[in-house]
Amino acid sequence: MTATPVVVKENPNNEALLEVKDLEISFRTEDGMAQAVRGVSYRLASGEVLAIVGESGSGKSVTGMAILGLLPKSARTSGSVRFKGTELLGRSEKELMKVRGDGIAMVFQDPMTALNPVYTIGWQVAEAVHAHRNLSKKDGWNRAVEFMSLAGIPEAEKRATSYPHEFSGGMRQRAAIAIAMANNPDVMIADEPTTALDVTVQAQVLESLRSAQNETGAALVLITHDLGIVAGLADRVAVMYAGKLVEIGTVDEIFYDPRMPYTGGLIGSLPRLDRQGERLRPITGSPPSLVAHTVGCPFAPRCPLVQQLCYDVEPELKQTSTSYAVSDNSHAAACHFSDQLGGTKAIELFAPISTDIEIQQIKGQGP
Ligand code: ADP
Ligand code: MG
Repeated sequence: MTATPVVVKENPNNEALLEVKDLEISFRTEDGMAQAVRGVSYRLASGEVLAIVGESGSGKSVTGMAILGLLPKSARTSGSVRFKGTELLGRSEKELMKVRGDGIAMVFQDPMTALNPVYTIGWQVAEAVHAHRNLSKKDGWNRAVEFMSLAGIPEAEKRATSYPHEFSGGMRQRAAIAIAMANNPDVMIADEPTTALDVTVQAQVLESLRSAQNETGAALVLITHDLGIVAGLADRVAVMYAGKLVEIGTVDEIFYDPRMPYTGGLIGSLPRLDRQGERLRPITGSPPSLVAHTVGCPFAPRCPLVQQLCYDVEPELKQTSTSYAVSDNSHAAACHFSDQLGGTKAIELFAPISTDIEIQQIKGQGP
């Protein structure tokens, strides 16, 4: 039975917490204008966890920075970023200062961005606590220690008197998360929060982010190049390629029914715990230059399913045929052939080859 799409009527009072619409970002470079982001739209609901994934250079960070007005002056932006219905794009530094921290908090790859080397960690978390709550000095300190503990810092009371240089990288990132939590934000944007850390520490910091999100009830935008870390954390996943969203859907839709070959490629190149020893199959080639004006699908030169249409016409992000509800949150992909793409096929296209027999089978020489 095929599902009939249900049109969900827009409820004017059901304003998204954060709504990015037709966001475009370009930079003047020596070679001309570089189109870093070419029309990104998404909605984030209260308490939701949205992961934004894609290769390095796909425009994830600049999309995040545009929300808080953190782009350099050389950037040109257009479109809209509405937070609780208020437009943020084009606001003055002074107005945006109010939104940063309170409202929307950011966690960066390098935790020292959020930490001041000359103050103790506890003092810095307490400062954020006092900025948003009317508490006595002692209560503020206790609350700060509590946030540090929730962010996964063991013996938080003792460690609150340490300085950032006395913390390891993973502990510093947990301190940065504690500060973000203490700001009591509605949205946390974490940009590659675990990329600089060892694998074992990565898992712990992700756990800290999860508990920060649970405790504060804040929505989370998790920006990462590593699709592997989002499965246990995100509600929805948005895949970016060459400055565009090329697929968006729930974690299950993205992992089990990808409708854009690029998503399949990302999944195919994940290390698999169940098949150790398999070689990884990375997506060959590299993303297009952002300066050159390209016609057609930017993924076409790397796509195993490419057809002439792909070189001629750039596909728009549109609802997939399996999407049950036609709404801003339904499964959508930017591929001319997304409807024909059974999820597993896309993964198989990029699937790792493990044995010589398999290689022979693929070459048509097998048993
Ligand atoms: P990602 O976070 O996905 O790795 P970014 O958002 O950092 O990618 O960058 C997207 C593109 O914008 C890249 O090609 C990058 O070189 C370009 N870019 C980012 N910041 C600047 C800048 N200040 N000036 C010129 N180009 C920039
Ligand atoms: Mg980045």
